[in-house]
Amino acid sequence: KHSSSHNVRSTFIDYFVGKYEHKFIKSSSVVPLCDPTVPFVNAGMNQFKGIFLGKTKEPCLRAVNSQKCIRVGGKHNDLNIVGRDGHHHTFFEMLGNWSFGDYYKNEACQMAWNLLLGPYGLKPENLVVTYFSGDPALGLKEDIECRDIWKSIGVKSSHIKASGASDNFWEMGPTGPCGPCTEIYYVDSNGNLTEIWNLVFIQYNREDDGTLTGLPMHHVDTGMGLERLTALLQSVPSNYDTDLFQPIIKAIEKMSKHCTPYSHKFGNSETLDNAYRCLADHSRMISVCLADGVFPTSSEDIFKCNNGMLSDLYDRVADSLGATYPELHEKRKESKIIIDYEEQSYAKLRVNLKKKWKDLIKQYPEVENFHDVELSGFADGYRHFKQAITQNKSTMMPADVIFKLYDTHGFPEHIIERIAELNNLTMDKGGFQNLLMQHKSRHKTAFKEQTDGVFETLDSDVMLNDLVSLKIDSERRLKIMRN
Ligand code: ATP
Ligand code: MG
Ligand code: MG
Ligand code: MG
Repeated sequence: KHSSSHNVRSTFIDYFVGKYEHKFIKSSSVVPLCDPTVPFVNAGMNQFKGIFLGKTKEPCLRAVNSQKCIRVGGKHNDLNIVGRDGHHHTFFEMLGNWSFGDYYKNEACQMAWNLLLGPYGLKPENLVVTYFSGDPALGLKEDIECRDIWKSIGVKSSHIKASGASDNFWEMGPTGPCGPCTEIYYVDSNGNLTEIWNLVFIQYNREDDGTLTGLPMHHVDTGMGLERLTALLQSVPSNYDTDLFQPIIKAIEKMSKHCTPYSHKFGNSETLDNAYRCLADHSRMISVCLADGVFPTSSEDIFKCNNGMLSDLYDRVADSLGATYPELHEKRKESKIIIDYEEQSYAKLRVNLKKKWKDLIKQYPEVENFHDVELSGFADGYRHFKQAITQNKSTMMPADVIFKLYDTHGFPEHIIERIAELNNLTMDKGGFQNLLMQHKSRHKTAFKEQTDGVFETLDSDVMLNDLVSLKIDSERRLKIMRN
């Protein structure tokens, strides 16, 4: 098929390499080891941050790539939407082109427009573009230049819309390179808009204290979701209907055939479809993470399938993405060992857990209330809490006890609140926030010491990619050995 996801991806890369002399740079790992400001790589520009900030010399003036991105935390967290719509994933591929101090707004818009209308064959009447409306509070002006560029390209005024900072001032995280952007939307026959491409004009840095400072050079940073574009070009309503997801969905259907009530064909029940979408989405994310050397520290949250299902889905993901990201093939054996290990320990954990709950309820009958809580360490944490408060005798849950439940035992805040309520205690929330901040800044300093000098030691031909994979490999091997 002409619009196979593979072709959609290569058309993008070939266009920028062949027509506009961009250099292809491979995707970095999803682990941002050189950057503590984001939990995972969340955009194509992450690996180029040092270039934008003037800390790394650019390896070329124009770059193009398809980047593995994960949005499950931090500023662009999409975890809670995933499964509920057809176009947000935890893991997705971002197609992007970059100018490092070379071309700027006019050329960037022109190149994007020509690609969409030319090689991808989209119709201008189905596209809407936005530009930054300005933000007086930030001291930022309306991007009239961008609006006029779209006009001069021939986009009808009714298809050009102004929009505020939340959509049209792009930032990767709490700090870092940022700037006004222009987004390109697709309008379907029902008038629904889906964002497909974002072109960011990087010209500021968001400092630690929240202020914006101008960068010495202006850069272009664009990102288009491969899954969304593929759905569009394959004329299907959701990303899950594309060739990127269908083999995985089919595999899930096949594997769940014998487990009623889960056995059903995709598309017949909204609740189960949602679950299928999540499973398909998460299996891609887990596989990519494992192939990049992410090692699960706790087994309870992700691995809830039995019978080798996730291990099997790893193969489906590797079939689909391995040609583009060979690490999925290279790390197959290790990744599947980890998945199987996690599945088995989860199964054991469940058996253990039942017994632990029984014992705990015998000792503290009030915890019957918490039966809905799925935390493997709940019993240990609760016992610790009980011991601490009988020694303390105050009517307030002390900050260090809250912190220990949160940090050591991994209790979410709402569970700690329920425990406090059940035991008629108020909580020292202020004290807890202080401890949390101290902890975070300690972590940040330690990280900085570990990674300082990384940007400086890069020579122009070595991208962060290589450094990052070196580093995780050795860390991960150590961890596996310890297990
Ligand atoms: P949205 O407004 O739809 O959440 P966004 O503005 O947060 O998207 P950007 O940060 O601009 O997204 O990222 C660039 C492109 O990456 C988007 O235009 C979209 O095509 C794609 N994209 C963003 N988030 C996701 C996601 N969670 N899953 C799949 N594709 C995504
Ligand atoms: Mg978003
Ligand atoms: Mg958006
Ligand atoms: Mg956007």
